[in-house]
Amino acid sequence: MKEECGVVGVLMHDADAQAKPASLQIYYSLYALQHRGQESTGITVKCGETIKSIKGMGLVPEVYSKDDLLKLKGNIGVGHVRYSTTGDSKIENCQPLMVKYKSGNVAIAHNGNLVNGHDLRDELESEGRIFITNSDTEVIAHLLVKELLKHDPIESIKAVMSRLKGSYSLALMIDDRLFAARDPLGFKPLCIGEISGGYVVASESVAIDTLNGELVRDVKPGEVIEITDSGFESYQMFNEKNAAHCVFEYIYFARPDSIIDGQLVYKVRERIGRELAKEHPVEADIVSPVPDSGITSAIGYTEESGINYQEGLMKNRYIGRTFIIPGQAMRETAVRLKMNTISENLKDKKVILIDDSIVRGTTSKRIIEMVRKAGAKEVHARIGSPAIIAPCYLGIDMATREELIAAKKPVDKVRDAITADSLGYLSIDGLVKAIGIDRGELCLGCLNELYPVEIPGEKCHRKQLSLDEFEEEDQS
Ligand code: AMP
Repeated sequence: MKEECGVVGVLMHDADAQAKPASLQIYYSLYALQHRGQESTGITVKCGETIKSIKGMGLVPEVYSKDDLLKLKGNIGVGHVRYSTTGDSKIENCQPLMVKYKSGNVAIAHNGNLVNGHDLRDELESEGRIFITNSDTEVIAHLLVKELLKHDPIESIKAVMSRLKGSYSLALMIDDRLFAARDPLGFKPLCIGEISGGYVVASESVAIDTLNGELVRDVKPGEVIEITDSGFESYQMFNEKNAAHCVFEYIYFARPDSIIDGQLVYKVRERIGRELAKEHPVEADIVSPVPDSGITSAIGYTEESGINYQEGLMKNRYIGRTFIIPGQAMRETAVRLKMNTISENLKDKKVILIDDSIVRGTTSKRIIEMVRKAGAKEVHARIGSPAIIAPCYLGIDMATREELIAAKKPVDKVRDAITADSLGYLSIDGLVKAIGIDRGELCLGCLNELYPVEIPGEKCHRKQLSLDEFEEEDQS
């Protein structure tokens, strides 16, 4: 199962929790993280001696009512927004996952994808453990509870992390303590912030901004943080030589106003546009973005090329989650429901159309058809990402290899398939330069088929260390 999610954890000082309960802070944070998942959402809060949750399928404003939220009185809690492939769209998979065990309660909010999730599940099932969901998060919960019966929370989290392979950014509530943990390669983002009356941990810094707080820093790869009344306690559990931050967060997934691993996503996308203009110049009348994901790169392209920026497409802001009846007849309506052309801006123009990425190629084809129908003379597609040639196993819901258009076709055939006059993808070097993080610290698996962790049937370019080797390296 592939997951794209957003997580948040909040601790409010007791004196402030009355006026600003953790539940409300989590709710606003989840609003800010809505782009990371629209299928389901949940908030779990410690209310006195009990743990209470609100969970549901749908968007944040659909799931929570003011009255219900205000009933969740408490100073500490975690929250989650989730998107997964439709097959697994079930309320049981909705997080935070809550588990009661002999000496207390655990609530887990997880963003990421374990590559050894199935193996661990098999192992736990053979020990007689029963699963109620098909998510990796329940695997983490079982492992954690096993450890908590023997060790304190910090030792327990470390022991669990040593078993997990893949990507995970976690917000964890263990009894009345709040923790954040990031996998040793730091695939998915996770940051900590200070807000008036407390602290927050969240997938993206926009959640902290929304609460009018200050971003303190990113959780480091391999780090566990305990958020306490007096601040943050850090435990560096693993020291991998290099991180493997997901490049797709910068290309498409994260909000442009977020700062991830020290880089403002907006600036990265602007530089992507500039690099694209250097790598793939073309004579044209206007630079036009595919909204919203292509806007910032289009600004960068305009700055570098000097060609006028003009919007040729407008997105419906209120589209939300719309059901589309399948079939050819509805297809055009479906596309136009989401996006419309501004014909006057496009008519008789040579257009450079900027989008963030091409996955299956269907969106680009439909949009280019619309742009032509609006009267564009030429359409030159410029893509703010290198060709996506391989699947993601680490938390981005991309597509299978068979579905990825660039996995099957060279650039000129993709150009023909999307009916563009020309097509230019950003190079991997250009992307790395735009992100501004050393190439060795990035996961480029979907772009070069080299993954930083072992995945059956795929190539891995990094040595995997066992826990003993990790510890030896740590000590040396
Ligand atoms: P397509 O090529 O038709 O599969 O659609 C690609 C477009 O979908 C891109 O331009 C992105 O704006 C958007 N997109 C890319 N990756 C994802 C993803 N993992 N989830 C949802 N939308 C995505």
